[in-house]
Amino acid sequence: TYAKQLFDKDFELTLANKHLQNLEQAKSKFVSVTAHQLRTPLSAIKWTFHILLKGDLGPTTKDQHNFIENGYESTQRMIAIINDLLNVDYMEADRSDYNFLPVDLPALIESVLFEFTNQAESKAVKLKCIKPPIIPPKVFADPIKLSMVIENLIDNAMKYTPQGGQVTVSVGDARMNSAESSLEVIVSDTGIGIPPAERDKIFHRFFRGSNATRVQTDGTGLGLFISRDIVEKHGGAIWFESKQGQGAQFHFTIPVNRNNLSN
Ligand code: ADP
Repeated sequence: TYAKQLFDKDFELTLANKHLQNLEQAKSKFVSVTAHQLRTPLSAIKWTFHILLKGDLGPTTKDQHNFIENGYESTQRMIAIINDLLNVDYMEADRSDYNFLPVDLPALIESVLFEFTNQAESKAVKLKCIKPPIIPPKVFADPIKLSMVIENLIDNAMKYTPQGGQVTVSVGDARMNSAESSLEVIVSDTGIGIPPAERDKIFHRFFRGSNATRVQTDGTGLGLFISRDIVEKHGGAIWFESKQGQGAQFHFTIPVNRNNLSN
């Protein structure tokens, strides 16, 4: 009958749609795994150029130095492109794509910080980590997504802090401030700060501060938008305090337990 035909068609379309969704997920996973895996060897190449540039392996001629510098900068650009790829990929992820597990947050921070030691050194910015006096509980999180948040915040702090400045990352218990047990991460810097008139737009997609575009021409304005998305999918919160010209402090919390992830 007609009704039966309709029913069959509907079933067929549902199946086809499911199939497309699976393909989409596979594609997304492919992009993210590939991008992640490309980053490690690229960082190693960048590090190698850095060592050569510093002259640790002996003096170089001016020509050699220029070539190595080109290599260094190209690698840096490639890493930025890969980060953008990862960012776009994360923007599309919904919570069902998250892999939640108990995560040692101080250790995760430590590993992200390590990626910046190089940059901090060459930019003459002091990069410090303050760990809590007592070992905090693990948080319930997707470690890859969470490391992206930490990376975005440190990357911003480094980008928007001039030479001679300081970037400090600390992690502590935020239980005092809320009923739910959670850990709080603070990334603070001594950089350009955020203009009061732009406070409300900082987490908007593609927004870049007027003072920020002056000191750093490339940037997508996606980092904080994605960071907020990721933190909120963990059931946490993200906010900042800043005085223009006197630095910024970005805070975020991640719950220890899974019970406030309602869906
Ligand atoms: P991007 O850094 O690519 O511009 P983000 O989304 O990471 O994009 O940040 C959005 C804007 O927020 C930046 O353009 C800048 O104006 C401001 N911002 C973020 N972090 C800092 C910081 N640590 N100090 C000053 N401004 C910041």
